[in-house]
Amino acid sequence: MEHPENNEAYKGLVVNAGIEQPSSVNPYLKRKVKKRQLSVNEFVEGIVKGDVTILSQAVTLVESVRPEHQATAQEVIERCLPYSGNSIRVGISGVPGAGKSTSIDVFGLHVLEKGGKLAVLAIDPSSERSKGSILGDKTRMEQLSVHPKSFIRPSPSAGSLGGVARKTRETIILCEAAGFDKIFVETVGVGQSETAVHSMVDFFLLIQLAGTGDELQGIKRGIMEMADGIVINKADGNNMDKAKLAAAQFRNALHLFPAPDSGWTPRVLTYSGFYNLGVKEIWDMVYEYIDFVKGNGYFEYRRNEQSKYWMYESINEQLRDSFYHNAKIESMLQEKEQQVLKGNLTSFVAAKSLLDTYFEDLK
Ligand code: GDP
Repeated sequence: MEHPENNEAYKGLVVNAGIEQPSSVNPYLKRKVKKRQLSVNEFVEGIVKGDVTILSQAVTLVESVRPEHQATAQEVIERCLPYSGNSIRVGISGVPGAGKSTSIDVFGLHVLEKGGKLAVLAIDPSSERSKGSILGDKTRMEQLSVHPKSFIRPSPSAGSLGGVARKTRETIILCEAAGFDKIFVETVGVGQSETAVHSMVDFFLLIQLAGTGDELQGIKRGIMEMADGIVINKADGNNMDKAKLAAAQFRNALHLFPAPDSGWTPRVLTYSGFYNLGVKEIWDMVYEYIDFVKGNGYFEYRRNEQSKYWMYESINEQLRDSFYHNAKIESMLQEKEQQVLKGNLTSFVAAKSLLDTYFEDLK
Protein backbone atom coordinates (compact mmCIF):
# COMPACT_ATOMS: atom_id res chain seq x y z
CA MET A 1 0.00 0.00 0.00
CA GLU A 2 1.13 3.52 -0.70
CA HIS A 3 2.40 5.32 2.38
CA PRO A 4 -0.17 7.96 3.45
CA GLU A 5 2.59 10.51 3.85
CA ASN A 6 3.25 10.30 0.15
CA ASN A 7 -0.04 12.00 -0.42
CA GLU A 8 0.67 15.68 -0.94
CA ALA A 9 -2.40 16.64 1.14
CA TYR A 10 -0.90 14.97 4.15
CA LYS A 11 0.67 17.36 6.62
CA GLY A 12 3.10 15.91 9.04
CA LEU A 13 2.21 18.38 11.77
CA VAL A 14 -1.24 19.20 13.05
CA VAL A 15 -1.47 22.78 14.31
CA ASN A 16 -4.17 24.58 16.23
CA ALA A 17 -6.64 26.76 14.39
CA GLY A 18 -5.35 30.24 13.69
CA ILE A 19 -1.76 29.19 13.53
CA GLU A 20 -0.05 29.02 10.19
CA GLN A 21 0.68 25.50 8.95
CA PRO A 22 4.44 25.02 8.76
CA SER A 23 5.87 23.49 5.65
CA SER A 24 5.82 19.74 5.46
CA VAL A 25 8.82 17.97 6.89
CA ASN A 26 7.92 14.60 5.50
CA PRO A 27 11.10 13.24 3.92
CA TYR A 28 9.12 10.70 1.88
CA LEU A 29 7.06 13.30 0.17
CA LYS A 30 7.35 12.60 -3.49
CA ARG A 31 7.92 15.78 -5.35
CA LYS A 32 7.59 15.40 -9.02
CA VAL A 33 10.30 17.58 -10.40
CA LYS A 34 9.54 17.88 -14.07
CA LYS A 35 12.64 18.41 -16.10
CA ARG A 36 12.26 21.46 -18.25
CA GLN A 37 12.58 20.65 -21.91
CA LEU A 38 15.33 22.54 -23.65
CA SER A 39 14.46 25.17 -26.23
CA VAL A 40 15.28 24.65 -29.90
CA ASN A 41 18.20 27.08 -29.51
CA GLU A 42 19.57 25.23 -26.52
CA PHE A 43 19.32 21.93 -28.39
CA VAL A 44 21.10 23.26 -31.46
CA GLU A 45 23.84 25.00 -29.48
CA GLY A 46 24.42 21.90 -27.36
CA ILE A 47 24.53 19.60 -30.35
CA VAL A 48 26.89 21.79 -32.36
CA LYS A 49 29.18 22.00 -29.33
CA GLY A 50 29.25 18.19 -29.34
CA ASP A 51 27.40 17.77 -26.03
CA VAL A 52 26.43 14.09 -26.08
CA THR A 53 23.81 14.39 -23.32
CA ILE A 54 21.95 17.02 -25.31
CA LEU A 55 22.41 14.98 -28.50
CA SER A 56 20.80 11.99 -26.73
CA GLN A 57 17.89 14.11 -25.58
CA ALA A 58 17.38 15.39 -29.11
CA VAL A 59 17.40 11.84 -30.48
CA THR A 60 14.77 10.93 -27.90
CA LEU A 61 12.62 13.76 -29.26
CA VAL A 62 13.13 12.50 -32.81
CA GLU A 63 11.94 9.09 -31.67
CA SER A 64 8.97 10.38 -29.72
CA VAL A 65 5.51 9.93 -31.16
CA ARG A 66 4.10 12.99 -29.38
CA PRO A 67 3.25 15.72 -31.90
CA GLU A 68 4.80 18.53 -29.79
CA HIS A 69 8.05 16.57 -29.54
CA GLN A 70 8.00 15.92 -33.26
CA ALA A 71 7.50 19.64 -33.95
CA THR A 72 10.52 20.58 -31.82
CA ALA A 73 12.56 17.73 -33.29
CA GLN A 74 11.87 18.89 -36.84
CA GLU A 75 12.99 22.44 -36.00
CA VAL A 76 16.16 21.16 -34.37
CA ILE A 77 16.92 18.94 -37.39
CA GLU A 78 16.38 21.79 -39.79
CA ARG A 79 18.73 24.03 -37.84
CA CYS A 80 21.32 21.24 -37.68
CA LEU A 81 21.21 20.54 -41.41
CA PRO A 82 23.84 23.13 -42.36
CA TYR A 83 26.29 21.45 -39.96
CA SER A 84 25.60 17.96 -41.27
CA GLY A 85 26.82 15.89 -44.20
CA ASN A 86 30.52 15.77 -43.33
CA SER A 87 30.83 12.12 -42.59
CA ILE A 88 31.34 8.71 -44.01
CA ARG A 89 28.18 6.69 -43.60
CA VAL A 90 28.55 2.93 -43.66
CA GLY A 91 25.71 0.42 -43.56
CA ILE A 92 26.57 -2.92 -41.97
CA SER A 93 24.30 -5.87 -42.45
CA GLY A 94 24.37 -9.55 -41.66
CA VAL A 95 22.12 -12.26 -40.32
CA PRO A 96 21.98 -12.78 -36.53
CA GLY A 97 25.11 -14.64 -35.50
CA ALA A 98 27.14 -13.34 -38.47
CA GLY A 99 29.20 -11.42 -35.95
CA LYS A 100 27.92 -7.88 -36.40
CA SER A 101 28.41 -6.74 -32.83
CA THR A 102 31.81 -8.39 -32.47
CA SER A 103 32.85 -6.87 -35.79
CA ILE A 104 31.47 -3.40 -35.19
CA ASP A 105 33.38 -3.32 -31.92
CA VAL A 106 36.71 -3.93 -33.71
CA PHE A 107 35.80 -1.93 -36.82
CA GLY A 108 34.90 0.96 -34.57
CA LEU A 109 38.13 0.89 -32.62
CA HIS A 110 40.06 0.65 -35.86
CA VAL A 111 38.46 3.69 -37.50
CA LEU A 112 38.77 5.69 -34.29
CA GLU A 113 42.53 5.09 -34.26
CA LYS A 114 42.71 7.60 -37.07
CA GLY A 115 40.89 10.18 -34.96
CA GLY A 116 37.39 11.55 -35.30
CA LYS A 117 34.18 10.39 -33.68
CA LEU A 118 31.93 7.43 -34.42
CA ALA A 119 28.18 7.02 -34.03
CA VAL A 120 26.64 3.55 -34.24
CA LEU A 121 22.94 3.55 -35.06
CA ALA A 122 20.61 0.71 -36.01
CA ILE A 123 17.51 -0.17 -37.92
CA ASP A 124 15.69 -3.18 -36.58
CA PRO A 125 12.22 -3.66 -38.03
CA SER A 126 11.46 -6.41 -35.53
CA SER A 127 11.95 -4.17 -32.53
CA GLU A 128 8.31 -3.10 -32.50
CA ARG A 129 7.20 -6.66 -31.86
CA SER A 130 9.97 -7.63 -29.50
CA LYS A 131 9.62 -4.33 -27.59
CA GLY A 132 13.16 -3.20 -27.77
CA SER A 133 15.92 -3.60 -30.21
CA ILE A 134 19.04 -5.56 -29.61
CA LEU A 135 20.78 -3.99 -32.56
CA GLY A 136 23.00 -1.14 -31.55
CA ASP A 137 22.75 -2.27 -27.96
CA LYS A 138 25.73 -0.99 -26.03
CA THR A 139 26.29 -4.17 -24.09
CA ARG A 140 27.05 -5.97 -27.33
CA MET A 141 29.95 -3.67 -28.11
CA GLU A 142 32.06 -3.87 -25.04
CA GLN A 143 35.05 -1.80 -26.02
CA LEU A 144 33.32 0.73 -28.19
CA SER A 145 30.64 1.44 -25.62
CA VAL A 146 33.20 2.82 -23.18
CA HIS A 147 35.19 4.69 -25.81
CA PRO A 148 34.95 8.46 -25.22
CA LYS A 149 34.60 9.20 -28.94
CA SER A 150 31.72 6.84 -29.63
CA PHE A 151 27.97 7.26 -29.47
CA ILE A 152 25.84 4.12 -29.62
CA ARG A 153 22.10 4.20 -30.01
CA PRO A 154 19.75 1.22 -30.46
CA SER A 155 17.11 1.14 -33.16
CA PRO A 156 14.08 3.37 -32.71
CA SER A 157 11.20 1.02 -32.04
CA ALA A 158 7.97 2.78 -32.83
CA GLY A 159 6.13 2.48 -36.09
CA SER A 160 6.55 1.05 -39.54
CA LEU A 161 9.91 0.25 -41.09
CA GLY A 162 9.61 3.50 -43.04
CA GLY A 163 9.06 5.42 -39.82
CA VAL A 164 11.90 3.69 -38.02
CA ALA A 165 14.22 4.34 -40.94
CA ARG A 166 13.26 8.00 -41.14
CA LYS A 167 14.10 8.46 -37.47
CA THR A 168 17.50 6.85 -37.97
CA ARG A 169 18.16 9.10 -40.93
CA GLU A 170 17.25 12.16 -38.89
CA THR A 171 19.49 10.93 -36.09
CA ILE A 172 22.36 10.77 -38.60
CA ILE A 173 21.89 14.49 -39.25
CA LEU A 174 22.00 15.30 -35.54
CA CYS A 175 25.09 13.13 -34.99
CA GLU A 176 26.90 14.77 -37.88
CA ALA A 177 26.06 18.21 -36.54
CA ALA A 178 27.55 17.05 -33.23
CA GLY A 179 30.83 16.31 -35.01
CA PHE A 180 30.50 12.58 -35.59
CA ASP A 181 32.39 12.06 -38.84
CA LYS A 182 31.89 8.31 -39.08
CA ILE A 183 28.44 6.80 -38.91
CA PHE A 184 27.68 3.09 -38.85
CA VAL A 185 24.12 1.97 -39.43
CA GLU A 186 23.60 -1.64 -38.44
CA THR A 187 20.78 -3.85 -39.61
CA VAL A 188 19.73 -7.49 -39.67
CA GLY A 189 19.95 -9.33 -42.96
CA VAL A 190 16.32 -9.90 -43.69
CA GLY A 191 15.50 -7.93 -46.81
CA GLN A 192 13.52 -4.73 -46.52
CA SER A 193 15.60 -3.18 -43.81
CA GLU A 194 18.66 -3.38 -46.07
CA THR A 195 16.90 -1.26 -48.65
CA ALA A 196 16.19 1.31 -45.97
CA VAL A 197 19.79 1.34 -44.77
CA HIS A 198 21.11 1.42 -48.32
CA SER A 199 19.08 4.58 -48.86
CA MET A 200 21.04 6.47 -46.21
CA VAL A 201 24.64 5.28 -46.42
CA ASP A 202 27.62 5.82 -48.72
CA PHE A 203 28.99 2.29 -48.44
CA PHE A 204 27.03 -0.87 -47.85
CA LEU A 205 28.96 -3.68 -46.20
CA LEU A 206 27.48 -7.17 -46.12
CA ILE A 207 28.83 -9.58 -43.51
CA GLN A 208 28.55 -13.21 -44.52
CA LEU A 209 29.52 -16.54 -43.02
CA ALA A 210 31.11 -19.54 -44.64
CA GLY A 211 30.58 -23.14 -43.81
CA THR A 212 27.08 -24.07 -44.83
CA GLY A 213 28.06 -25.05 -48.35
CA ASP A 214 25.11 -23.32 -49.90
CA GLU A 215 25.73 -19.81 -48.68
CA LEU A 216 24.73 -18.20 -51.96
CA GLN A 217 21.26 -19.62 -51.87
CA GLY A 218 20.56 -18.11 -48.51
CA ILE A 219 20.90 -14.48 -49.52
CA LYS A 220 18.54 -12.60 -51.64
CA ARG A 221 19.92 -11.42 -54.89
CA GLY A 222 18.74 -7.88 -54.18
CA ILE A 223 20.84 -7.65 -51.04
CA MET A 224 23.97 -8.82 -52.81
CA GLU A 225 23.39 -6.31 -55.54
CA MET A 226 23.30 -3.52 -53.00
CA ALA A 227 26.63 -4.46 -51.43
CA ASP A 228 29.72 -2.35 -52.17
CA GLY A 229 31.74 -4.90 -50.24
CA ILE A 230 31.07 -8.43 -49.03
CA VAL A 231 33.12 -9.66 -46.11
CA ILE A 232 33.25 -13.25 -44.93
CA ASN A 233 33.64 -13.31 -41.16
CA LYS A 234 35.13 -15.98 -38.90
CA ALA A 235 38.01 -16.69 -41.26
CA ASP A 236 40.03 -18.21 -38.43
CA GLY A 237 41.17 -21.65 -37.25
CA ASN A 238 39.58 -24.55 -39.07
CA ASN A 239 37.21 -22.24 -40.82
CA MET A 240 39.88 -20.51 -42.88
CA ASP A 241 39.61 -22.68 -46.00
CA LYS A 242 35.84 -22.62 -46.00
CA ALA A 243 35.91 -18.84 -45.76
CA LYS A 244 38.28 -18.59 -48.72
CA LEU A 245 36.07 -20.94 -50.72
CA ALA A 246 32.98 -18.91 -49.88
CA ALA A 247 34.79 -15.74 -50.94
CA ALA A 248 35.56 -17.31 -54.32
CA GLN A 249 31.91 -18.29 -54.74
CA PHE A 250 30.75 -14.79 -53.93
CA ARG A 251 33.23 -13.31 -56.39
CA ASN A 252 31.91 -15.57 -59.11
CA ALA A 253 28.32 -14.73 -58.27
CA LEU A 254 29.04 -10.99 -58.33
CA HIS A 255 30.30 -11.31 -61.91
CA LEU A 256 26.81 -12.30 -62.95
CA PHE A 257 25.33 -9.01 -61.82
CA PRO A 258 25.30 -5.90 -63.97
CA ALA A 259 28.04 -3.39 -63.10
CA PRO A 260 26.87 -0.97 -60.38
CA ASP A 261 26.14 2.69 -61.26
CA SER A 262 29.01 3.80 -59.07
CA GLY A 263 31.54 2.31 -61.46
CA TRP A 264 33.05 0.53 -58.46
CA THR A 265 33.57 -3.21 -58.62
CA PRO A 266 32.34 -4.68 -55.32
CA ARG A 267 35.04 -6.65 -53.52
CA VAL A 268 34.92 -9.78 -51.43
CA LEU A 269 37.29 -10.10 -48.46
CA THR A 270 37.70 -12.56 -45.62
CA TYR A 271 38.42 -11.56 -42.02
CA SER A 272 38.02 -12.51 -38.40
CA GLY A 273 36.31 -9.99 -36.18
CA PHE A 274 37.00 -12.05 -33.11
CA TYR A 275 40.76 -12.35 -33.72
CA ASN A 276 41.03 -8.96 -35.38
CA LEU A 277 42.50 -10.35 -38.62
CA GLY A 278 41.97 -8.62 -41.95
CA VAL A 279 40.09 -5.73 -40.38
CA LYS A 280 42.49 -3.08 -41.66
CA GLU A 281 41.99 -4.31 -45.23
CA ILE A 282 38.23 -3.86 -44.95
CA TRP A 283 38.61 -0.23 -43.94
CA ASP A 284 41.24 0.40 -46.57
CA MET A 285 38.62 -0.82 -49.05
CA VAL A 286 35.94 1.49 -47.63
CA TYR A 287 38.23 4.53 -47.80
CA GLU A 288 39.37 3.59 -51.28
CA TYR A 289 35.75 3.41 -52.36
CA ILE A 290 34.99 6.82 -50.85
CA ASP A 291 37.96 8.37 -52.71
CA PHE A 292 36.85 6.66 -55.89
CA VAL A 293 33.23 7.87 -55.80
CA LYS A 294 34.21 11.34 -54.63
CA GLY A 295 36.49 11.45 -57.66
CA ASN A 296 33.89 10.43 -60.21
CA GLY A 297 31.01 12.45 -58.72
CA TYR A 298 28.97 9.44 -57.67
CA PHE A 299 29.28 10.24 -53.97
CA GLU A 300 27.38 13.49 -54.32
CA TYR A 301 24.99 12.02 -56.86
CA ARG A 302 24.04 9.20 -54.47
CA ARG A 303 23.51 11.58 -51.55
CA ASN A 304 21.26 13.77 -53.70
CA GLU A 305 19.31 10.75 -54.86
CA GLN A 306 18.92 9.73 -51.22
CA SER A 307 17.59 13.17 -50.29
CA LYS A 308 15.05 12.89 -53.08
CA TYR A 309 14.08 9.42 -51.94
CA TRP A 310 13.55 10.67 -48.39
CA MET A 311 11.42 13.55 -49.55
CA TYR A 312 9.02 11.08 -51.15
CA GLU A 313 9.26 8.68 -48.22
CA SER A 314 8.38 11.50 -45.89
CA ILE A 315 5.38 12.49 -48.00
CA ASN A 316 4.18 8.89 -48.16
CA GLU A 317 4.55 8.41 -44.44
CA GLN A 318 2.68 11.57 -43.56
CA LEU A 319 -0.12 10.88 -46.01
CA ARG A 320 -0.51 7.41 -44.60
CA ASP A 321 -0.52 8.70 -41.05
CA SER A 322 -3.04 11.38 -41.81
CA PHE A 323 -5.32 8.86 -43.52
CA TYR A 324 -5.20 6.15 -40.87
CA HIS A 325 -5.53 8.59 -37.99
CA ASN A 326 -8.53 10.32 -39.48
CA ALA A 327 -11.46 9.77 -37.08
CA LYS A 328 -13.96 8.88 -39.81
CA ILE A 329 -11.56 6.42 -41.42
CA GLU A 330 -10.78 4.85 -38.05
CA SER A 331 -14.46 4.24 -37.45
CA MET A 332 -15.10 2.78 -40.92
CA LEU A 333 -12.00 0.71 -41.51
CA GLN A 334 -12.94 -2.43 -39.56
CA GLU A 335 -16.36 -2.64 -41.14
CA LYS A 336 -15.00 -2.28 -44.68
CA GLU A 337 -12.35 -4.86 -43.96
CA GLN A 338 -15.02 -7.32 -42.80
CA GLN A 339 -17.11 -6.67 -45.90
CA VAL A 340 -14.11 -7.41 -48.09
CA LEU A 341 -13.31 -10.57 -46.12
CA LYS A 342 -16.90 -11.80 -46.46
CA GLY A 343 -16.88 -11.09 -50.16
CA ASN A 344 -19.61 -8.46 -49.95
CA LEU A 345 -17.37 -5.76 -51.34
CA THR A 346 -14.39 -5.82 -53.67
CA SER A 347 -11.09 -4.44 -52.39
CA PHE A 348 -11.17 -1.65 -54.93
CA VAL A 349 -14.66 -0.48 -54.10
CA ALA A 350 -13.85 -0.58 -50.38
CA ALA A 351 -10.65 1.40 -50.91
CA LYS A 352 -12.40 3.93 -53.10
CA SER A 353 -15.19 4.51 -50.62
CA LEU A 354 -12.67 5.00 -47.78
CA LEU A 355 -10.57 7.37 -49.84
CA ASP A 356 -13.65 9.33 -50.96
CA THR A 357 -14.70 9.72 -47.33
CA TYR A 358 -11.20 10.88 -46.43
CA PHE A 359 -10.92 13.46 -49.21
CA GLU A 360 -14.45 14.69 -48.48
CA ASP A 361 -13.51 15.12 -44.82
CA LEU A 362 -10.47 17.23 -45.75
CA LYS A 363 -12.58 19.82 -47.57
P1 GDP B 1 25.54 -10.70 -34.38
O1 GDP B 1 24.32 -11.43 -33.96
O2 GDP B 1 25.63 -10.60 -35.88
O3 GDP B 1 25.73 -9.39 -33.72
O4 GDP B 1 26.78 -11.65 -33.97
P2 GDP B 1 27.77 -11.60 -32.70
O5 GDP B 1 28.78 -10.53 -32.87
O6 GDP B 1 26.97 -11.59 -31.45
O7 GDP B 1 28.53 -12.98 -32.88
C1 GDP B 1 27.89 -14.23 -32.86
C2 GDP B 1 28.85 -15.30 -32.38
O8 GDP B 1 29.92 -15.45 -33.31
C3 GDP B 1 29.50 -14.97 -31.04
O9 GDP B 1 29.56 -16.15 -30.29
C4 GDP B 1 30.89 -14.50 -31.42
O10 GDP B 1 31.83 -14.74 -30.41
C5 GDP B 1 31.17 -15.32 -32.64
N1 GDP B 1 32.11 -14.63 -33.54
C6 GDP B 1 32.00 -13.32 -33.97
N2 GDP B 1 33.03 -13.01 -34.76
C7 GDP B 1 33.81 -14.13 -34.86
C8 GDP B 1 35.02 -14.43 -35.55
O11 GDP B 1 35.63 -13.62 -36.23
N3 GDP B 1 35.51 -15.70 -35.42
C9 GDP B 1 34.89 -16.64 -34.69
N4 GDP B 1 35.42 -17.84 -34.62
N5 GDP B 1 33.75 -16.40 -34.01
C10 GDP B 1 33.21 -15.16 -34.09
